[in-house]
Amino acid sequence: MLADVLARPLKDLRISVTDRCNFRCTYCMPFNEYPWMERNELLTYEEILRLVGMFVRLGVEKIRITGGEPLVRKRLDVLVSGLASLEGIRDLSLTTNGALLAKQAEALHEAGLKRINVSLDTLDPEKFKRISQRGELASVLEGLRAAQSCGLYPIKINAVIERGVNDDEIVPLAEFARARGFAIRYIEYMDAGNANHWRLEKVVTKREILAALSARFGLREARRADSSTPAVSYEFADGGGEVGVIASVTEPFCRDCDRARLTSDGRLVTCLFSAKGHDLKSLLRSGARDSELSELIARLWGQRSDRYSEERFVSPQRGVGYEPSRAPKLEMIVLGG
Ligand code: SAM
Ligand code: SF4
Ligand code: SF4
Repeated sequence: MLADVLARPLKDLRISVTDRCNFRCTYCMPFNEYPWMERNELLTYEEILRLVGMFVRLGVEKIRITGGEPLVRKRLDVLVSGLASLEGIRDLSLTTNGALLAKQAEALHEAGLKRINVSLDTLDPEKFKRISQRGELASVLEGLRAAQSCGLYPIKINAVIERGVNDDEIVPLAEFARARGFAIRYIEYMDAGNANHWRLEKVVTKREILAALSARFGLREARRADSSTPAVSYEFADGGGEVGVIASVTEPFCRDCDRARLTSDGRLVTCLFSAKGHDLKSLLRSGARDSELSELIARLWGQRSDRYSEERFVSPQRGVGYEPSRAPKLEMIVLGG
């Protein structure tokens, strides 16, 4: 079986279908303008499907479509339908900001998408505008309703918690999710990319998130379905549903990380905090055979030794301050979270 330097298999692939987004979330891509990729740089759906076929043969079982905002790419249902019919994929999901979901949920579901993650960090319309800089809360709520009524299940809410911004909404977001039958996953604010001016003080830790929840609800740890899933799952003790916390900053999970990322312009990225990706598109477009591309992917994975989150705080332990901007990284809109 294919494994990297730390004996981690390749099981999970995140596919970014565009670096563009209709939001400008302050914690992700706050800039109005950015050197966006040109249309002809993007992999076509046919090219993505061809590459995914190779990834599946190398061990990938789980696929997540992401971006930028994946729903701004035209006819995403066509890609979903192609992925849903590939043999060997046992889990296909999509992460979206939800703004365009009301229009597309039905088509995506019919194309074969079963479940979906929708990012929602606040229930306050004004705060929503401040965080997303462009979005409307009402459109996301409408998208969630549409996803639910067409049968997408489970629907998971992803909430990035940032100190002084939305840490007062940990409990209201849980109440919202419980009342509607959504699962909720809180995400520690990460030093991903370089555009967001991340600071350690802004991170609300898993411990703090669980303390806020436990003060209001009974919680119990649920068994993890999959050891490589980053969110440790909890459930409301009264049967009110699932809660996860992705503690990438305070409880890194690099030793189980079996995830690769494919950027929309065809680069393979082996860690969320990588400074660069490995170009697959040039070989793909030069007429290479599948076997040549598979060998390249296998070689790149075989050389992988990334463990950024585990190494992040090595310097403070040595008494030297951690300075995230000294580690240039690809932006989340390129990598797809
Ligand atoms: N646009 C889609 C969305 O927002 O759901 C998909 C792409 S977005 C990059 C994927 C996920 O990354 C979202 O749930 C978003 O909240 C999360 N994210 C972005 N920047 C983050 C950061 N600095 N720390 C933690 N999560 C972040
Ligand atoms: Fe926000 Fe997602 Fe767009 Fe980033 S990619 S700015 S998280 S909506
Ligand atoms: Fe995986 Fe890199 Fe995140 Fe560690 S820091 S869990 S290696 S993506």
